[in-house]
Amino acid sequence: MDFFNSRIHHWYAIYKRDLPWRNARNPYFIWLSEIILQQTRIDQGLAYYLRFTEEFPTINDLANASEDQVLKLWQGLGYYSRARNLFFTAKYINQHHHGMFPDDYNSILSLKGIGEYTAAAIASISFNLEYPAVDGNVYRVLSRFFGIQEPIDTNAGKKVFYELAKELIKGTNPGMHNQALMEFGALQCIPKNPDCQHCPLREGCFAFGSGKIGDLPVKQNKTKQRDRYFNYLVFVHNKYTWLRQRTKNDIWKGLFEFPFIETSEKTDVGQILINCEWGMITNSSGIIVESISSWKVHILSHQKIHYRFIKLNMSGEIEMLDDLIRVNKEDILSFAVPKLLEIYIDEFLKK
Ligand code: SF4
Repeated sequence: MDFFNSRIHHWYAIYKRDLPWRNARNPYFIWLSEIILQQTRIDQGLAYYLRFTEEFPTINDLANASEDQVLKLWQGLGYYSRARNLFFTAKYINQHHHGMFPDDYNSILSLKGIGEYTAAAIASISFNLEYPAVDGNVYRVLSRFFGIQEPIDTNAGKKVFYELAKELIKGTNPGMHNQALMEFGALQCIPKNPDCQHCPLREGCFAFGSGKIGDLPVKQNKTKQRDRYFNYLVFVHNKYTWLRQRTKNDIWKGLFEFPFIETSEKTDVGQILINCEWGMITNSSGIIVESISSWKVHILSHQKIHYRFIKLNMSGEIEMLDDLIRVNKEDILSFAVPKLLEIYIDEFLKK
């Protein structure tokens, strides 16, 4: 363990990336960076982090924003429930902790949207507490170096890794140690073709010595994806179109999008126009199909969204249901929309 720790700490001192939250101990900044980085790579996440901290420099500023503002800033990162939890928790901290981030692990863990990993990252980096932060990078490094074959996606496997990580963090500078391990996994012991020849852990590494780098870490379950089919209906009348906010407990709750009809498979447009859900969107007359895009696919962790856009021109009497919002095309960019709509909207606005 001493060999492992000293080599990783030494490597980190030389190779760590200079990132804005690395110079901060402010728990709000650490929390923000961790939540954003669960969604994306550092290069993209950095831009989001800078935008968030510029717009909301304190928890109080975030708590006093509107949910739409937060979702708009989050747009493109996916997993919008994380943005909603971020907003909820900022308001909670403001109301129940006088705007001060709690400074003990259990209180941090009790906050909405903060799991064991994030709580440990905040507790160790901001408050110097010895809690190991075990993310995907850390699982990979530990499983390869120590030769742990327990699956990382089972409770029993997670416990094995957590106990080892707890031993490793003892007596270290916990914030530095956690960041060093995560950074080592992100830059050196990467998932595919790590550069073992130049790795400071090579001598003691089980995976390198036994040629099992590609086999570790072990995963038991492969995630199953559900196929869904969204037929977006882009109603157009002069310079107006219509959007609807997603309110159900489903993906993208709170975001805006063109109304759509979901089908169980790819369906003819003729079937869409007589679908019973059509009446939940419009009772207008004189609707003509102007164009139909090809099907595209958007991949989420558990769902595969097949989608297309059916552009509809309206020339008769217009009667849209109450939950649809009439939007001037030029204002459409001010709404937070799911990522898959962005490219279409760009094209749509050019016409
Ligand atoms: S030797 Fe290779 S597999 Fe082992 S820790 Fe280093 S990079 Fe990872």
